[in-house]
Amino acid sequence: MSDTKTVRTRMAPSPTGEYHIGHIRTLLYNFAFAKQNNGQFVIRIEDTDQKRLVPGAMERILEVIKDYGLSWDEGPDIGGPYAPYVQTERLEIYQKYIQELIDKGAAYYCFCTSERLEQMRETQKAAHQLPKYDRHCLNLSQEEIQKNLDNKVPYVIRLKMPQNETIVFEDLVRGQIKFNTNDVDDQVLVKSNGIPTYHLAAGVDDHLMQISHVLRGDEWISSVPKQFVMYRYLGWEMPKFAHLPVFLDPDGKGKMSKRHGTVSARSFLDDGYLPDALLNFLMLLGWNPGDEREIFSLDDFIKEFKIERLHTKQPIFDRKKLDYFNGLYIRQKTDQELFPYFQKFLPQASESTINILIPLLKERITKFSDLITITKYLFEDVDYDINLLLQKGVDKDLATSFVQKSIELIQSQENFSDTTKLQEKFLNLIAENSWHTGKFFMVFRIALAGVPITPPILETIQIIGKEKAIARLQLALSKLSSV
Ligand code: GLU
Repeated sequence: MSDTKTVRTRMAPSPTGEYHIGHIRTLLYNFAFAKQNNGQFVIRIEDTDQKRLVPGAMERILEVIKDYGLSWDEGPDIGGPYAPYVQTERLEIYQKYIQELIDKGAAYYCFCTSERLEQMRETQKAAHQLPKYDRHCLNLSQEEIQKNLDNKVPYVIRLKMPQNETIVFEDLVRGQIKFNTNDVDDQVLVKSNGIPTYHLAAGVDDHLMQISHVLRGDEWISSVPKQFVMYRYLGWEMPKFAHLPVFLDPDGKGKMSKRHGTVSARSFLDDGYLPDALLNFLMLLGWNPGDEREIFSLDDFIKEFKIERLHTKQPIFDRKKLDYFNGLYIRQKTDQELFPYFQKFLPQASESTINILIPLLKERITKFSDLITITKYLFEDVDYDINLLLQKGVDKDLATSFVQKSIELIQSQENFSDTTKLQEKFLNLIAENSWHTGKFFMVFRIALAGVPITPPILETIQIIGKEKAIARLQLALSKLSSV
């Protein structure tokens, strides 16, 4: 490939379910590489596996990509010079290349029944052989083939792998990879329903769509020799490939799994992670800038990204690190920018409540869904174990007077918006009675919130209102009187 060729990258989602967070990482790298080189980034939908198709999945995948702040130059929704971008709308296109492969003796009809293939596999397994098609149909005569076709015997079309050949392939991440063709199956290119498999469709499309670089998960490495051979038969030049190691779970034992939390791209957004923070975190899961820097905007990343700096080591999906990034990005936002996020996660809160909560809570959360638990006491009735009121040298009488006097103080107030003034009043009350400040507020907090840890407690009165605050304190009194 000449270096002057336009850089065109692609992501080729299969609409078989939710998009994985790992897909967003791979997509981000493809996107950044294309943008950096003034090239194009393409989305192509690989829906040839009709059995695994999930209705609506394509739309959801496109939507989540946009919600991460990423976009594409050509794709199923916006079209482009190589449209259509959905493989089942391209079936006629593949037909031509299938015929060409058959005519060249590079692909062949296979009429084997599933029973026969099953039996073959059993035999191979028993003999500890590699599961591979035994080429039963490779040398059928033209007459036999025609007879079967005339009799409408179901068939698949297989790629004929050359034998005893070492295929050497240069991966941009892993360097040289070698395959012995004897270890590679005669891949099915067209299924019995006439629809091509991934291998044929992706290979043809990468070529026709002029894809120059393919960055993808390394679970696809095994398809390279098949694509390599197919391209050679067709006289095409392969795109350059970079296979990226997939994420590991935090314990480093095995592929990232649901055991440690959510894995779909959408669910991270639903949990209240910011797209910018997620992208920044993902940038570093497989790439580094070569120095200590960690904070990158998408624009910075587009400038800095280098294929040579992609890692070969499997990155660990460290959720604590993601929380750290997200907390950082949350705190960088102005209160005004945070408003819609607070509103989304606290739909029951009024505008004025949200305005009170933002400065109180932005330092205390790592993701917006934390708001739901932290503020639960503001929106729901509280209840708690009486022992929470009677800890650390606070007996029933002392706790009762804490609460009783607090009720009196609150009763006498009309305005709770000036919390500095309110605090002064409470501190005076504490001083007058020679109480211990920490003990007083512990009881007061439990009585108002039902939990021992909350954001600054005096703002609670302003949010829940005088009446509710007094009712909660009265509940504490009645709990105390029953001891
Ligand atoms: N359709 C494949 C997938 O779902 C894409 C594989 C590739 O990038 O070549 O991941």
